[in-house]
Amino acid sequence: MIDRSGCAAKKHGTVNAYSNFDCRCPDAREDYNLYERLRRRGQSHIQRVDGDEVQMRLRALGVMGHSLEDIAEEIGWFPTNLYTMRHGKHPQVLFRTYQTIYDVYLRRQHVFGGSTRTQRFSVRKGWLPPAAVNSIYRFLSGADVRLCSPEQQMVLSIAKARGVDLSPLIKRMYPNAVNLGKLRGAA
Ligand SMILES: [Zn+2]
Repeated sequence: MIDRSGCAAKKHGTVNAYSNFDCRCPDAREDYNLYERLRRRGQSHIQRVDGDEVQMRLRALGVMGHSLEDIAEEIGWFPTNLYTMRHGKHPQVLFRTYQTIYDVYLRRQHVFGGSTRTQRFSVRKGWLPPAAVNSIYRFLSGADVRLCSPEQQMVLSIAKARGVDLSPLIKRMYPNAVNLGKLRGAA
């Protein structure tokens, strides 16, 4: 039996628990490390990945009050690089850039970053919080996730920007819908 008394997470022992619920139990750590190793091996040949995920995760951290200056300092970058990414000026980013931002995101997504100014700004912009962004990218990676309306809109706009066929996505959002053409029109 694994002792979970020291862990405040709502879910335990899986990659999902590690990434989305901050579980740091030994089995979750082990699973996550294995997952990361496999992911790296599988994608090590890919030089670049779509930049929307980096943009969305930086925005979500903004909603949590993490300023770009603070994040830049942590990873030793110039804030201007993060600004242009959060602006969506990088349709693609290097895979290792993606990994760096994703690591920061995992560490910070559930804690307040200390900048109310950044938080107010991000909320005013209508940027989505970490929970929504996690759902969006879990859905896009094929997981069976129920999305609320703003999340659905975001999935479709990301897919459009990526040049991906929207029909299979809409079908997954509305498994019982008859008139997909109409839904696509509304998207
Ligand atoms: Zn745990």
